[in-house]
Amino acid sequence: MAGLPTTARVVIIGGGVVGASSLYHLCKAGWTDCVLLEKNELTSGSTWHAAGNVPTFSSSWSLMNMQRYSTELYRGLAEAVDYPMNYHVTGSLRLAHTKERMQEFQRAKGMGRYQGMDIDVVGLDEIKRRYPFIETHELKGALYDPSDGDIDPAQLTQALAKGARDMGAKIIRFCPVTGVRRENDEWVVATPQGEIRCEIVVNAAGYRAAEVGKMFGREVPMMVMSHQYILFEEIPELAAWSKEQGKKLPLLRDVDTSYYLRQEKTGMNLGPYERNCRAHWATHNDPMPEDFSFQLFPDDLDRLEHYLADAVARVPILGTAGLSKVINGPIPYAPDGNPLIGPMPGVPNAFEACVFTFGIAQGGGAGKVLAEWVTQGQTEWDMWSCDPRRFTSFASAPDYCVAKGMEIYGNEYAIQFPRHAWPEGRNRKLSPLHDRIKALGGRFDAYNGWERATWYAKPGDDTSEESTLTFRRDGPWQHRVREECLAVRDAAGILDLPGFSRFNLEGPGAADWLALQVTGLVPKPGRIGLVYFSDDKGRIVTEMSVVRHGEDQMTLITAAVAQWHDFEWLKSRMPAGEVFTLTDRTEAYSTQILAGPNSRKILAEVCAADLALPWLTHQETTIAGRWAKLVRVSFAGELGWEIHSKVADTATVFDAVWSAGQNHGLKPFGMYALDSLRLEKGYRAWKGDLSTDYSILQGGLERFVKWDKPDFRGKAALLNEKQQGVKKRFVTLVVEDPSDCDAPYMSTLWHDGRIVGETTSGGWGHRIDKSIALGMLRADLAEPGTPVEVEIFGDRFKAVVQKDEPLWDPKNERLRA
Ligand SMILES: Cc1cc2nc3c(=O)[nH]c(=O)nc-3n(C[C@H](O)[C@H](O)[C@H](O)COP(=O)(O)OP(=O)(O)OC[C@H]3O[C@@H](n4cnc5c(N)ncnc54)[C@H](O)[C@@H]3O)c2cc1C
Repeated sequence: MAGLPTTARVVIIGGGVVGASSLYHLCKAGWTDCVLLEKNELTSGSTWHAAGNVPTFSSSWSLMNMQRYSTELYRGLAEAVDYPMNYHVTGSLRLAHTKERMQEFQRAKGMGRYQGMDIDVVGLDEIKRRYPFIETHELKGALYDPSDGDIDPAQLTQALAKGARDMGAKIIRFCPVTGVRRENDEWVVATPQGEIRCEIVVNAAGYRAAEVGKMFGREVPMMVMSHQYILFEEIPELAAWSKEQGKKLPLLRDVDTSYYLRQEKTGMNLGPYERNCRAHWATHNDPMPEDFSFQLFPDDLDRLEHYLADAVARVPILGTAGLSKVINGPIPYAPDGNPLIGPMPGVPNAFEACVFTFGIAQGGGAGKVLAEWVTQGQTEWDMWSCDPRRFTSFASAPDYCVAKGMEIYGNEYAIQFPRHAWPEGRNRKLSPLHDRIKALGGRFDAYNGWERATWYAKPGDDTSEESTLTFRRDGPWQHRVREECLAVRDAAGILDLPGFSRFNLEGPGAADWLALQVTGLVPKPGRIGLVYFSDDKGRIVTEMSVVRHGEDQMTLITAAVAQWHDFEWLKSRMPAGEVFTLTDRTEAYSTQILAGPNSRKILAEVCAADLALPWLTHQETTIAGRWAKLVRVSFAGELGWEIHSKVADTATVFDAVWSAGQNHGLKPFGMYALDSLRLEKGYRAWKGDLSTDYSILQGGLERFVKWDKPDFRGKAALLNEKQQGVKKRFVTLVVEDPSDCDAPYMSTLWHDGRIVGETTSGGWGHRIDKSIALGMLRADLAEPGTPVEVEIFGDRFKAVVQKDEPLWDPKNERLRA
């Protein structure tokens, strides 16, 4: 056994597939002075017993990217590192029982083809042709993915480990990390074999990631489920077929029933995600044992019975097979089911690559992403879906993690519908107005844990969860959302926006420093302005509103979900010694949006503020005797103000405004209406339209770039891109003769039979009565009037490129009124 080195550049804690892949990719990036420490033997966590399925399917663009990369890596890995392994690329059939499932498949096919994969949606005959043993009752069709398959997880891990060792990395087994401490800007990692000093640490401890996280003072949002599969003995018909055909059956996933069925040698492997699932190590009475290496939970066949019966009816030869083994192992879940890959929140030079529920399928891609984070501080693809900072502190509460983990596990294959609010883990953070909003009919969803109204129902409206399980635009909310939008257009609307992230930046030099961080101008005192942050490659990191109170005193406001990400982006770039300060004040204030032509009249009745002050100004005032800040902006695209108040005063302020508004047609409006209103203005949404997948120039944000500033982050890259010319460009499209669904994120755009771009968001604009899509289009086609086609759930619709101005109120006259 190799001895423990005393120093390394990077230490990875955990030798499952993800730790090994991270090590391999760091070495590939030239960082070979890396050490992986494993508590027991490589693979002894979740990896050794994984079924080894390697799907590419996902409804998330970034997860699909990561999984696609894995399949490409695994195909060449054995040869690349000279380590033979069993990787069967069998293809898979993902079965659909419903029209909505077929829509989901059509969308995945569109995304998959855009990523260069040959995914297809097939009918019953084709299912039968590819899978002769199947019964097709209750089926509508299937998604065929030729690159799906299964790999031996232990061999995969060993292959990655060998590749890394061959490049110079060290792997120390039977070496548990027992603690870490910070000394002289270095990490000291303690183990029973001694200490090791390093620059960077990676937590790749799988289902033990929370335990390792605690060593850093970090509460990892996660829980552990038990997950089972059953192995069956040889099935003679299957053995004969396989021999004759010289191949295995494609992997079958009955996602509506919630299981997969895979040929395993000449038998089968059945793996359900049970609705009646079980969490482990979730209470004080059931602590995680100190060591669970290479161990399993007892079989729990009762939970599997329903799925077994269903699978036998679907593939009757399974009914003839004897059961040979049950594998029931620990599998970690984050509260949204995606892994954590990226900077460890609040901890310098530490990263996470843990809490994987599909670590075999995602391990290859995860190693690439982690290595990019470590070596470059940024990733090729926008990886917000896996960024640990997408969860803030509330999400680490054990009861929240257990509730969400069980919900996701039991619905692992569920379709993600745009208007469906998952019911578990709710009411974590309530607005001071929550009861009032509820009494007005508010239907809620959680935004970084904050409950916000999505729409307002009236008595008799269908507010059932079932009614939201659709991709159709015209659910029960639609006519109410329309009423809300028209109230904002014709009179006034008020939207309660708790949890708007806000940071105070103040102290000598703060404004000068901020000017270097943003592409454009920091607004003058008394003004508010939108600023964009670019990375070194010129890509869009984030957008914030700057409310400048004084020379070096300002509040930066950003999306609720961006709270930790944006705070850290700023904080980690502040100069050492900190002559100015950055403070998170999100919890101290609340915001309401008042918008519409009557909003001035309403405010005039409740405060003495100068309401003639122009657009993009702000002022302090009192409403009902309480301090408030009026900021004259409107994401809704009408005359309007944001009303910021202290949390304790928000209800009083709201009551005064609401009461004055009753004579002026004031109505409450929700997040769905706001989304519709902002689409008509072409305002971008965070991590849809605005992401590191696009540069500031591609995003059509050049008006927020001040080229003659001496310097700003990303300037060189952006100047270079400007000289070369952008390859794709942000456009607003109007979909003509639209279907009954609007374009979801990442719908492909077609021209002359070729894919020429993608949508970044879409929806119905009620003020213009049109289906709108925002997206990225090949630059030469981004001319107003150009017709393209947008693929919405498999069908293509004509869409026309619009002028580079808002569809509603193009000259912003209503905003400036
Ligand atoms: C029954 C079952 C079937 C599955 N099937 C599939 C499948 O078909 N496809 C798929 O993609 N995924 C599958 N999974 C999930 C998959 O197993 C995991 O996502 C994956 O193995 C996670 O890999 P990892 O490297 O993150 O974690 P792990 O494999 O758990 O590795 C973490 C390692 O960290 C080590 N460690 C922990 N604490 C310390 C410490 N203090 N010091 C040093 N080392 C430490 C552990 O010993 C362990 O080896 C399945 C899971 C189960 C339970």
